[in-house]
Formats: sequence, structure tokens, C-alpha cells
Amino acid sequence: MSAIDDLPPLRDVIREHDLAAKKSLGQNFLLDLNLTSKIARASGPLEGVTVFEVGPGPGGLTRALLACGAAKVVAVERDERCLPALAAIAARYPGRLTVIPGDALETNWNALAAEHRAAPDSPVRVVANLPYNIGTLLLTHWVEAEPWPPFYESLTLMFQREVAERIVATTDNRIDYGRLGVLCGWRTKARILFDVPPSAFTPPPKVTSSVVQLVPRPDPLPCSRQDLSAVTAAAFGQRRKMLRQSLKPLASDPAPLLEAAGLDPTARAETVPIEGFVALARAFRRRREEIRSNT
Ligand code: SAM
Repeated sequence: MSAIDDLPPLRDVIREHDLAAKKSLGQNFLLDLNLTSKIARASGPLEGVTVFEVGPGPGGLTRALLACGAAKVVAVERDERCLPALAAIAARYPGRLTVIPGDALETNWNALAAEHRAAPDSPVRVVANLPYNIGTLLLTHWVEAEPWPPFYESLTLMFQREVAERIVATTDNRIDYGRLGVLCGWRTKARILFDVPPSAFTPPPKVTSSVVQLVPRPDPLPCSRQDLSAVTAAAFGQRRKMLRQSLKPLASDPAPLLEAAGLDPTARAETVPIEGFVALARAFRRRREEIRSNT
């Protein structure tokens, strides 16, 4: 019997259901229910909260979320082999676990929130030990969500330490600062909560992992995410070049754009704070509108 519930230990669950980890599905399982409880608690008090989990696998984090009091867990899992183990958890917590078999990348999260909240006013949080091969893609998807503020109150997610550092990076950490840091910093407040060593996973990955929390900013600086994406793609695409050179894919002469945004043409992307990129995105939009109205 494990400490947090009366379900069998996860090693027995994995053996019983023959859940040998598949690398192609980014499967690195957490078998220590004390650690999964720490991750569950890191997302804040769970009473009344609906949690969306990606990739419950054999259910270590799922069990911790339920034992810590989540009103409901909605878990999207691609590996059908995991479904019987998850059904046993659903039976232990009647009406509180909904398993959606399928691909998280294809999931309509707004629709899921509308359909599966524990109650109409139940806040939604996303808590997951993500499959590393699609972690950044899923995060980008959630941070680019429309409408904004999004369907979730927070994201509490496991990443490789190197990705976590890029998510929280600012101009103070120039090596890690890039498109991901600008996007996440623009729309959310992001911070690393704690590290998790490779030895905590089965099988152990090669690198240290970190749990990151992102809380949506209610009023991000106004600009369109497509324009922000376009200017950061150009600027960080040639990050060692000065902006007057790296922005040439956006305008044959970037000087007027840079002037309108109040940016130094000799600056490099890694020294431009998020507000600078927002100003550039807005100037880029105005310039395109001017060109359109003159033709
Ligand atoms: N939550 C479990 C834990 O902490 O032990 C498993 C985490 S494991 C890192 C990632 C999980 O995501 C696996 O169960 C895997 O099958 C699942 N997965 C991989 N790709 C997925 C996808 N596209 N959609 C949904 N789940 C996926």
C-alpha cells in the first residue's frame, strides 16, 4: 500500500499492465508518490479546481492530484496501454477522473474546458510531467491561446532544465533568452519552482528536469501574437547580427521600423527586452497598414 492512497504501488501497476516505457512517446515515469504529491501541491491548493493533465501514463501524478483534493482531473493520454491502469484510478475516485484517449497536440483545450469543468466556475489548471518531445510545442500552444486571458489559471509543467531556463530567460540571461522567453514573458509570469534529478524517473533521462510554473498576465502589453512572432523570428534568426541587419527579412530598410519602435539599430536581439519587441511588433503592423493604404 502506498502512502497517499490504497491503490497498488506504481511498480506493480507497470508490471501488471506491461507498461514498458516507450521512447517514441517520451515516457519517463515518476514512480515516487511523494514526489508526484510535491508537484501536485506546487500548483497550489486543489480544492474546487479542475486539473488538465497531459500524459498520465501509469497515473503517478494523476493519483497525487486526486489525493491532494482536485475536484476533477481530465487526463489526455495517447498510449492505449495505459487505459486499464487509469480506469482503476477512476474507479477509486468515482466521478473525479475523466480520461480522454488521444493526442494532446490535436486537443481543443477551450472545448475541453467548456465541457469538462467540475463546475461552471471551477478554475482550470494544467499540471503535467510532459513528454519531452512535444513539451515546447504544447507550451507554445497554451501561451498563444485565444481568447486571452486563457482557459487556465496556471500551468505547472515538467521540462528539461535547459528548456526551463529558456522559458524564464530575460535579457539578464542572454545565452538562454530567445523567442520562447519573449513569448512566455509577454503573456505570463514564469518561474522555475524546483529541479528533479534523472534518478527520479523510470527510465532516467540523460539530463536534470525542472518544474516550471506560468501564470497568465491579465493584461499583456498590447500587440498581435503573429506580429510578435514575426519580429522575434527575424531578430533571433540572426541573433549575433545587429537589428539593422537581422530585421531585413521584414523590411529592406529596417531603419524606420527601428526608429518607430525606439530601438537602437546597432543593438542585438538578446539585449532587447520584451517591451522593445512589443514596440517593434506594433511598428511592424503600422508599417504594413501604411503600405496597404498607399497601394
Ligand atoms: N504522468 C506520468 C508520470 O509522471 O509518470 C507519465 C509522464 S511521461 C513523461 C509522458 C506521458 O505522455 C506518457 O504517458 C506518454 O504516453 C504521454 N504522451 C506522449 N505523447 C503524447 C501525446 N501526443 N498526447 C498525449 N499524451 C502523450
